[in-house]
Amino acid sequence: MNAYQPRTDDMQFVLSRVLNAPAQLQALPAFAEVDPELMQQVLDEAGKFVGEVIAPLKRDGDEIGAQWKDGVVTMPPGFKHAYQTFWQSGWPALSASTEDGGQGLPSVLEAMLYEMLSAANHGWTMAPGLLHGAYECIKHHASDELKALYLDKVATGEWLATMCLTEPHAGSDLGLARTKAVPLPDGQYAVSGTKIFISGGEHDLTDNIVHLVLARLPDAPPGPKGLSLFLVPKFYPDGSRSRVHCDRIEEKMGLHGSPTCVMRFDEAVCDIVGEPGKGLNAMFVMMNAARLHVALQGIGLLDAAWQKADAYAQERRQMRAPGKGRSAGEADLIGEHPAMRRILDTQRAWVDAGRVLAYRTALELDLIKHSQDAATQAAAQCWCALVTPVMKSVFTHQAFHGGSDCLQVFGGHGYVREWGIEQIVRDARVAMIYEGTNEIQAIDLLVRKVLADGGQSMNALLDTLASDLPPAAHASAAAQSRIQTLRSLTERIAQAAPKDAALAFRVADDYLRAVALVLMDWAWLRIETGVDADTPQADTRWLSPAKALRSWVLPEFSMRSAIIEQQCSAVAH
Ligand SMILES: Cc1cc2nc3c(=O)[nH]c(=O)nc-3n(C[C@H](O)[C@H](O)[C@H](O)COP(=O)(O)OP(=O)(O)OC[C@H]3O[C@@H](n4cnc5c(N)ncnc54)[C@H](O)[C@@H]3O)c2cc1C
Repeated sequence: MNAYQPRTDDMQFVLSRVLNAPAQLQALPAFAEVDPELMQQVLDEAGKFVGEVIAPLKRDGDEIGAQWKDGVVTMPPGFKHAYQTFWQSGWPALSASTEDGGQGLPSVLEAMLYEMLSAANHGWTMAPGLLHGAYECIKHHASDELKALYLDKVATGEWLATMCLTEPHAGSDLGLARTKAVPLPDGQYAVSGTKIFISGGEHDLTDNIVHLVLARLPDAPPGPKGLSLFLVPKFYPDGSRSRVHCDRIEEKMGLHGSPTCVMRFDEAVCDIVGEPGKGLNAMFVMMNAARLHVALQGIGLLDAAWQKADAYAQERRQMRAPGKGRSAGEADLIGEHPAMRRILDTQRAWVDAGRVLAYRTALELDLIKHSQDAATQAAAQCWCALVTPVMKSVFTHQAFHGGSDCLQVFGGHGYVREWGIEQIVRDARVAMIYEGTNEIQAIDLLVRKVLADGGQSMNALLDTLASDLPPAAHASAAAQSRIQTLRSLTERIAQAAPKDAALAFRVADDYLRAVALVLMDWAWLRIETGVDADTPQADTRWLSPAKALRSWVLPEFSMRSAIIEQQCSAVAH
């Protein structure tokens, strides 16, 4: 079984040649010192760490998994040592502010690190996956007293953090949450209730765990507006243990290296984060950061699946490929058969476009934080709000479905454990579910964002994409036409929606896919402008996936448009 190896040259190509990131970042005073050499150095070191330390632990993570006994969770062999090395080397703090103990580097480097980590070992990566969101949440919403106790520990990753939202009867609909918080005379609170599916709720990776918990105050109204956010540590600053218990970990289809915990809060004494009733607002900071991370999981996992399938397709021989002679006993490489090339080049097209979109989104996050120009910040907000749910949904979908196609390249050998591809498919499945299911992402995009402002922000995003297409290319004309179709579809839905309350919910997924395909198209046109004669293996490396995109991926746009049109027409008549 070949372990995943980060290919940092491809990532660097997207960063520098496609997105021109170093120049954009250096224009921001916060990153004036971040030159291309520094970025390359960080990327190379990250690739080395991920390849040498994290990737080899993946198999044990799956086969031995996290173990629960009497409320204590023991992580798979090697996980603790790797995590201790990880935080002590400064990796979790890459993009945290220097004043909080971080390194103050751009978010895009963190995004690249998490893509590699997820590709190498999804289960292990779940542990630090929520750290940055927790850091941002505490930084922006906690009191100075709480920050003094917890911010630098979370920023550096010395302590890990959880996000405790889900309850047995409250999943997508967090407004149904019943966990209670009762005020105590000294200004603190006591939280009681059960949270389920909590990633890393208990483990032995760090000395302490910081739980961020949504709960309801006694006088709170029902629904999401009645939720407040609380910080409950496993151990208090005086070393005593809080009344938080891990009652069980789930038996799962995959992701065995990550303990998915049932957490019982039994009048656990804690502090409020932010204002009463504003818990979801504070939590959204964390959830948005987590959604980009989950999109990166999808991209990383698909890349890992592609790497395995590509290597196998270059070794395994079966039958003659079309156009080859028919001498008895001779066979061609699997990778030469058009059906297998189609699978491989199509997945490559998704991964490469995924990187462009994810890294661009991380760059936009840096602009939101560090640009001093209000218009730039507003455009960056618009990009992140619209593109994040699209990426979360399509790249997690592709990691599972495209990962399964990569498994197909192995034939029966893919279905057995030896080659490790079946683990990727099992692990990837959950990313379509957590951090807001993919259906919820589609509703978030169309109903809560696009229709909520009458299509204004979507049109602004489409203006940005349209103005950023290479002028002459034939493919650009097709891209412009799809952008125009998407504008019309947005208008069609906006006009028909008031006549049928369910319409937008019925077409939300088709709409999200249509937006994704326009983004993919844009990303590939940008990639092609970055490729020139000096780019290594420009003909096969970049041209084959570009062709696959136009042959096998983009035609879906017409189907999605037709479905939306048909649904809107049905309402009109
Ligand atoms: C391995 C794992 C790790 C997790 N980690 C965490 C964690 O760390 N913290 C945490 O708080 N939670 C965590 N979760 C929980 C996860 O976020 C929820 O499972 C998810 O939000 C869906 O909730 P649910 O499972 O209750 O499904 P439900 O909300 O019951 O949904 C069931 C189905 O109905 C669909 N649906 C629901 N409402 C709508 C709607 N309005 N329109 C269209 N379709 C709808 C959903 O998309 C889904 O397909 C984790 C889950 C898993 C499996």
